[in-house]
Amino acid sequence: MMSTSELKAKLGDYHSRLSSRDLQIAMKVHTHVRRYLGDYLFKEGFTEIPPVILSPMTDPLNHPTLDPVFSCYGYRYQLTKSMIFHKQLALLNQPKIFCFSPNLRFEPTERAESGRHLFEFTQLDLEIRDARREDAMALLEGMYTGLMAYSKKELASELKEMGRDLKVPKSPFKKISYAEAYEQYGASFESDLSKEMYEPFWIIDIPLSAREFYDYEDPEQEGILRDMDLIYPEGFGEASSGGEREYEHHRIVERIQKKEQDVNDYEILLEMASKGLYASAGFGIGIERLVRYICGFSRIEAAAMFPKIPGQLCI
Ligand code: AMP
Ligand code: MG
Repeated sequence: MMSTSELKAKLGDYHSRLSSRDLQIAMKVHTHVRRYLGDYLFKEGFTEIPPVILSPMTDPLNHPTLDPVFSCYGYRYQLTKSMIFHKQLALLNQPKIFCFSPNLRFEPTERAESGRHLFEFTQLDLEIRDARREDAMALLEGMYTGLMAYSKKELASELKEMGRDLKVPKSPFKKISYAEAYEQYGASFESDLSKEMYEPFWIIDIPLSAREFYDYEDPEQEGILRDMDLIYPEGFGEASSGGEREYEHHRIVERIQKKEQDVNDYEILLEMASKGLYASAGFGIGIERLVRYICGFSRIEAAAMFPKIPGQLCI
């Protein structure tokens, strides 16, 4: 537990941070980003769905997090780590959906050092019925380039104040396969490439071992998924992850088993899949990382009003 003097010092830091000009700018950018992206998707015919905070099922993720479990009314609930499965289910009702989805991922404490991880953040998460990876990539490129051009114009005075020279990249963005990137740069390929590049780029064809069971395995390349990450240039690292999804009952079972996970944990998804799910593709893009990139902040905390820093007491 924190001593009273430590807590007072911490709250003093909050007080000055909350009154800072940088945070005022961050919140203005945040407002514009959410409005621009929401309007963009509305014009593209998407339906906005409300976020899910608690559910008996959530994203297993491919890295360890601390996972509190709640017992409510005699049932076991988890906090949402991503809405991946709810997105697939929502497609039963609507052909194109998006959500500004709060995610709670109690990341390992050392992730605080990355400058890119919070334990509560929001992703703009979307999914499109019967779409391929390429459709999702084209959509994100349009949103991204449109947002950069809009920000340069509508937020010109704030960007000038921050000394930020924002680039509007040319579409289509460069695509690099995971295998190619790994061969050239080794395990640190993402940050090395991100530092080298001046335009955003894609990492595609990510292997099964590096991703969760729900991304679609390419029937033409065993062990390789039909998925993608969008990486910011200038060293800002990953912006978004997405891909096509497994939607057939027998394939989902096979993929859960390949990951050595327990099918019993995915009873709800499997029951729904046995009744029929749509093929789909989609992605999630982290809003705080996006605001951080637009403002050119060195760390993600600067882009959040009440940042949740892994390992710390945060209000
Ligand atoms: P994922 O599908 O796990 O890659 O998450 C989708 C997107 O959410 C990522 O590409 C990031 O932009 C964002 N994101 C993931 N984890 C975090 C985190 N701990 N803190 C802030 N943003 C995150
Ligand atoms: Mg990712």
